[in-house]
Amino acid sequence: MGIKEKYQIIRKKIPDDVTIVLAAKKRTADEVAEAIDAGVTDIGENYVQEAQKMYEHLGKKAKIVRWHLIGSLQKNKINTALPIFDVIQTVGDFSIAEGIDKRVEKAGKKVIPVYIEINIGSEITKYGIKPEYKSILDLIKKISGNLEHLKVEGLMTMGPRFGDPEESRLYFKKTKEIFDEIKTFDLPNVSMKTLSMGMSNSYKVAIEEGSNMVRIGSAVFGER
Ligand SMILES: *Cc1c(COP(=O)(O)O)cnc(C)c1O
Repeated sequence: MGIKEKYQIIRKKIPDDVTIVLAAKKRTADEVAEAIDAGVTDIGENYVQEAQKMYEHLGKKAKIVRWHLIGSLQKNKINTALPIFDVIQTVGDFSIAEGIDKRVEKAGKKVIPVYIEINIGSEITKYGIKPEYKSILDLIKKISGNLEHLKVEGLMTMGPRFGDPEESRLYFKKTKEIFDEIKTFDLPNVSMKTLSMGMSNSYKVAIEEGSNMVRIGSAVFGER
C-alpha cells in the first residue's frame, strides 16, 4: 500500500474533529508531497533545519498545509523557525516562551500559537514541563500576563513509549484532566482548544481519552 492509501484509511478511521498532524521526520520531500496530495492538512517537523529544507523543496505545496514544530526548539533556531511554523507545540518553560515572544514581530507575525509540552511520565530523558497542575497553570499564567506575541492554544504530550498502547491510557487520562482544568480559567491570550497526544501505535487510545490532535508518522510512511 502506498502513502496515499494508508493516509486515507487512517483518515477515515479517525473522527473528523480530530486533526492528523503528519510527523515527517527523516522523510523525503517527495514522500511528504505525496501525502499532501492525498489530503494531509498538517505537517509536523522535529527539526528546524529539516523543516526549512522541506518547506523550500515543496514550493507551492508547502503553503497549503499548516506546519507544526513538534521537536524541541533551541534558542538559536527561533528566527529560522518562526517564518515557517504556524504552531509551536513544544513550549515547556518560560525561557523558551520569552525567546519566541521577542522574535515574533521580526518574523513578520503578530502572534504565534503555542502548545505547552507536558512531560507526563516525568521521564528524565524527555523535555517538557512536569505534570504538576499548579506549575503548568503558573507557566500559562506567566505567558498570558507577560508575552503578548504568544497565544496558548493547547497542550501536547509525547507520553512514555510502550509496546502495548493500553499502558499509555493512564498518561493520556492525566493529560486530559489537566487540559480540562486549565480550560476553566479565562486568561488573556489563552484558548485551550487543542490536546495533541497519540502517535501511530497509540492514537486510538489517545482519542478515546479525549485527544483532538494526533501526530502520526510510521503508520502512514512505514517504519523508519
Ligand atoms: C516521530 C514523532 C511522532 C510520530 O511517531 P510515529 O510513531 O512515527 O507515528 C509523533 N510525535 C513526535 C513528537 C514525534 O517525534
